[in-house]
Amino acid sequence: MDNKIGKELDTAHGSLELPIFLPVATRGFVKAVPMYKINEMKIKAMISNSMHLALTPGLDKLEERGGINGFTGFEGSYFTDSGGFQILREELVKIDDNGILFQDKKSGNSMKVTPEISSDIQKRIRSDVAMMLDDCPPYGAEDARYKISVKRTYEWGKVFSSIKVPGQKRFGIIQGGFNYEMRKESASLMLSLEFDGFAIGGLKIGEPKELTDRILEKTVSLIPSQYPKYLMGVGDPVSIYQYSGMGVDVFDSTYPTRNARHGYALTENGPVNLKNSKFSMDFSPIENGCECETCRFYSKSALRELLKNEDPSFQYLVTIHNLDFMNRFMNYVRHNRERAKQIALIFSKNHNDVINNVQ
Ligand SMILES: [Zn+2]
Repeated sequence: MDNKIGKELDTAHGSLELPIFLPVATRGFVKAVPMYKINEMKIKAMISNSMHLALTPGLDKLEERGGINGFTGFEGSYFTDSGGFQILREELVKIDDNGILFQDKKSGNSMKVTPEISSDIQKRIRSDVAMMLDDCPPYGAEDARYKISVKRTYEWGKVFSSIKVPGQKRFGIIQGGFNYEMRKESASLMLSLEFDGFAIGGLKIGEPKELTDRILEKTVSLIPSQYPKYLMGVGDPVSIYQYSGMGVDVFDSTYPTRNARHGYALTENGPVNLKNSKFSMDFSPIENGCECETCRFYSKSALRELLKNEDPSFQYLVTIHNLDFMNRFMNYVRHNRERAKQIALIFSKNHNDVINNVQ
């Protein structure tokens, strides 16, 4: 157990209380929610994708505004992903020792990314926390492939960690697949470099949960407690409760925002499917006691009508409620673990009702 109360991560846009959950803002913005609302809700940090930002809106616009915060108006801290995870997606074209060739599905533009280029992109974005470019093989790859990934990620880490950017924290990523010896090797290599924090990469990519849990717990314990520990792409209440207990400090996921757009509201009594006809005459809010704008002004019945009519305000209304729920849940994770445990237990019994672990 490593989840010390009071652990913090200092960034150029403020100090972050850990453990923290980062909503996903792929191109700098959260879908359906204006930035003034994100600021008003006191969302302290979000994650964006540096590759997507480099393609659109493009680095020139961000630099013209003094960095991503100037462009979007967000008052909190941005983490940026290097895009290494996209290796698992169609956007990747080719990977070798020099880097990754990406192709953007939307524009068709392709781009070669080396550790130096990834570093430069994130420097120009001026994110608060930059993730190194890593090599993340798919689940089920041969041992030889994981070995290449450990070596390659270390070589890329050497380059990335040697470039210092004032005001920007730089995180390393530990690979090693599902073999503990390889994880140990990757951890010791990455810990020999000068990083401000570490992510545990290459997990939750289709393997059985028992395997995730075993490898994660062992890998987290290899990282000294003064470093923030980040599990990328994971952010449902059950996983956050469980893995923060193992010492994970940073989570991110489209879980609250994507579920909202599909009609699932998150509450301390579990998820609520607003498409359900049983709410047609239910004039109570999504969650009694919730002080978010949606719960103050809208009933479940009204929200269901907006959903049925494909009114665009539905996405905004449910997304802000779900983000409010995540704020509350993370407060429990930090300060009232008994309450967080109760909520996680409710969610573990209702896991079929929501889209889990959406990336
Ligand atoms: Zn609410």
